[in-house]
Amino acid sequence: KKMVYYFGKTKTEGRGKSKALLGGKGLNLAEMTAIGLPVPPGFTITTEVCDGYYKNKQKLPAGLMDEIRKAVSVMEKELKKKFGDDANPLLVSVRSGAAVSMPGMMNTILNLGLNDEATEGLAKATNNPRFAYDAYRRLINMFGDVVMGMEHHTFEAAFDKIKKKYKVSEDTDVPAEGLKELCDAYKKVFEKHAGEPFPQDPYKQLQLAIEAVFGSWNTPRAVSYRQIENIRGLLGTAVNVQSMVYGNMGEDSGTGVAFTRNPNTGENKFFGEFLINAQGEDVVAGIRTPQPVAEMPKWNKAVHKQLLEIKQTLESHYKEMQDIEFTIEKGTLFMLQTRTGKRTGVAAVKIACDMVKEKLITQKEAVLRVPANDLTQLLLPSFKTTARNAADVLARGLPASPGAAVGKLSFTAADAKARAAEGEKVILVRKETSPEDVDGMHAAVGILTSTGGMTSHAAVVARGWGKCCVAGAGDVKINEKTKKITVNGRTFGAKDVLSLDGTTGEVMAGEVETQEPTLSGDFAKLMGWADQYRRLKVRTNADSPADSKRARDFGAEGIGLCRTEHMFFEGDRITHMRAMILAETEKDRRAALKKLLPFQRKDFEGIFKAMNGLPVTVRLLDPPLHEFLPHEDKAQKEMAQELGVKPSEVKQRTESLHESNPMLGHRGCRLSVTYPEILEMQVRAIVEAAIRCANKNIDAQPEIMIPLVGTAAELRVLRERVEAVIEEVVAQKKFEGKLNILIGTMIEIPRAALTADEVAEYADFFSFGTNDLTQMTFGYSRDDVNTFLPDYLDNDLLNVDPFQSLDTTGVGQLVEMGVTKGRSVKKKLKVGICGEHGGDPSSIDFCNQVGLDYVSCSPFRVPIARLAAAQAAL
Ligand code: ADP
Ligand code: MG
Ligand code: MG
Repeated sequence: KKMVYYFGKTKTEGRGKSKALLGGKGLNLAEMTAIGLPVPPGFTITTEVCDGYYKNKQKLPAGLMDEIRKAVSVMEKELKKKFGDDANPLLVSVRSGAAVSMPGMMNTILNLGLNDEATEGLAKATNNPRFAYDAYRRLINMFGDVVMGMEHHTFEAAFDKIKKKYKVSEDTDVPAEGLKELCDAYKKVFEKHAGEPFPQDPYKQLQLAIEAVFGSWNTPRAVSYRQIENIRGLLGTAVNVQSMVYGNMGEDSGTGVAFTRNPNTGENKFFGEFLINAQGEDVVAGIRTPQPVAEMPKWNKAVHKQLLEIKQTLESHYKEMQDIEFTIEKGTLFMLQTRTGKRTGVAAVKIACDMVKEKLITQKEAVLRVPANDLTQLLLPSFKTTARNAADVLARGLPASPGAAVGKLSFTAADAKARAAEGEKVILVRKETSPEDVDGMHAAVGILTSTGGMTSHAAVVARGWGKCCVAGAGDVKINEKTKKITVNGRTFGAKDVLSLDGTTGEVMAGEVETQEPTLSGDFAKLMGWADQYRRLKVRTNADSPADSKRARDFGAEGIGLCRTEHMFFEGDRITHMRAMILAETEKDRRAALKKLLPFQRKDFEGIFKAMNGLPVTVRLLDPPLHEFLPHEDKAQKEMAQELGVKPSEVKQRTESLHESNPMLGHRGCRLSVTYPEILEMQVRAIVEAAIRCANKNIDAQPEIMIPLVGTAAELRVLRERVEAVIEEVVAQKKFEGKLNILIGTMIEIPRAALTADEVAEYADFFSFGTNDLTQMTFGYSRDDVNTFLPDYLDNDLLNVDPFQSLDTTGVGQLVEMGVTKGRSVKKKLKVGICGEHGGDPSSIDFCNQVGLDYVSCSPFRVPIARLAAAQAAL
């Protein structure tokens, strides 16, 4: 099987192959070469070889090095240089690159092929000894780091010594002799730590480097990144071996990274940074502060113009915003990488809409392009203008990733992770972040760094997650040891709160008040397109008029779940509720319920009004009664006093209601069986509210939902009661109009799904309560699942938390069965889903497939569900 794919003037073997085989970097190097962009020639070793390497006890397959030698000789012919030559050596970079980009997860080795003699040769051939030794010291350092696993700081000390000796502060100011001395020092450091001298044989260097890249696929940080990003099923990484171009040849050379559009705002403007006389990772690592590309014309007009042309070429080829890496060698531009650029949710929406306008993509493509979950970022809070104007601004860094973050300071990733797990909001403060920090960055509410640019590791990663990040705030002096920062003479520690504005780059003392976002015109446009394509309706879970209204503004087409129990906690209501629970006789219970009736009716009326013309599914009381009673002595005494009973009575009743397994206990429809008067009061409230609405010309469309049904008989009996109450109220109120109230059930007990054909006889609609259905199908207690779920995820026993994303293979079967069996009896049975899964894009995709009529989710997730529903349909 072919293991090596060449790209260059001679041939581009990788063109049209897959990312899965060549990795994103390799495939795009081939593509760019093929469309005529200036790419230094090289070759890609496939991901299959990486897979084989792991399957073969971490050994390279036979024949690989031969294929590599052949490819190298093609490169040598094209470039008229020889790998391993002493006089004018061909040098290469060895770069990793998987199918999915994992920024900064694996390291690159530059200038490979240099040894003592070749460095001398390179110095002479280029007439630039400074450059040659600079290249060599970088190689020894990177090789030591990547291949031998040596720590970066072991080299840094030697570098500092040389800088001191020559009295300079910048790397670029060290003269040639200094760099030569540095190479000698580095070789000693290398030998000391590696136990062997720096390898002088270029092919040995190459082979070890390739093995190291394969090895980097399974480092803890790479594994951790893949876990967080949920990247699965890849063979491994490809390896790209590419001839070097030199950005470190002097003032006419440089290197940079850029986005073809602004990745924060989406603005159609080339956006990037470059560094003069620098190589490779200097820009990303934040060692020196780069200049914005907009400044480039002052330095080299022609290169700037060429970059803008390349932007057009790339965008019309890929029809996507690109993230590029480039190098300028003595005034000549070379492209080293392109990939789809990570962007904020705001930018994603703007770019998709702009590209439709520019006729680069269709509306459908625009809808498919924006990751539904990224809309969260458009719905993110920001700081209140007034609060921010009054805020105590400590420093200003780069606005690396938008959003507003308020939290206490944390100085290490481990600490951030631990404290976040305890529910604390922390801001991770680092000089610069490194890939080892990803866990802590993920756990923090915001990230603050004191060095590094807009394309630094912290910025790129944070943006991908939509997490607020301020980078390169140079005024913030971080002391990791004492766990303190000093800003202009003021000191802050782990207990102090800071506020970060990722949109302006401001770092503020204390807690600054945040506000809800407002939505731009592009957002509405995209939502409009999404609505054209989706089949699923999107409803919301809401139990107050205010939530209902907000959800409607977000595009909700009704309420899929109105939880009535929430209405029993406010103000006086809880007192009446408790009186009802304490009552010994039906008569006393009815008396207490009568007091609750007006509250319920008013709530329903408000919700029906907010949802005028749209269906509202009201679920009858669901939780076990003891949830409404206080469990502590003190609170029980207060309750007794309020109700004018003995404290012992309260205690006794609470104890008698105690259940060892409340989630499987006396709740849901079981309450209505024991206490029909509760059902009667709730139904009466609903019907009276609907009649009041009708009389005011408000179109109320109540759907009464009976929870926790497991047998058809339960629903039959309770449905009869509900119908009886409706009739009674209509008669009492002498209502002449039409009410059209639906009666249905939640399918949340596996038995109900299994017997859905029987249950459907008595139901006008089904709503899958997938929270409970998941709980009961897996046998995982929703409230206790976190005691073991993390272990299940870590050990790959589960791919995702089944309470977050519907388990389509198991629980999904019950949903599908419920739909099919239900509709076998009632063709037009209305079927929806409520619960957390209703707002999860992958679960929505499943709901679309099995023919549900609607999903229902929290108001905030309604836009996400609309977009996901469209994507599911396309
Ligand atoms: P990463 O995935 O971390 O971005 P890359 O493989 O893209 O790693 O390499 C990082 C940087 O190294 C590139 O952006 C580029 O500046 C430099 N580099 C890689 N290969 C070459 C090369 N052949 N010539 C010059 N610079 C290179
Ligand atoms: Mg790298
Ligand atoms: Mg790169």
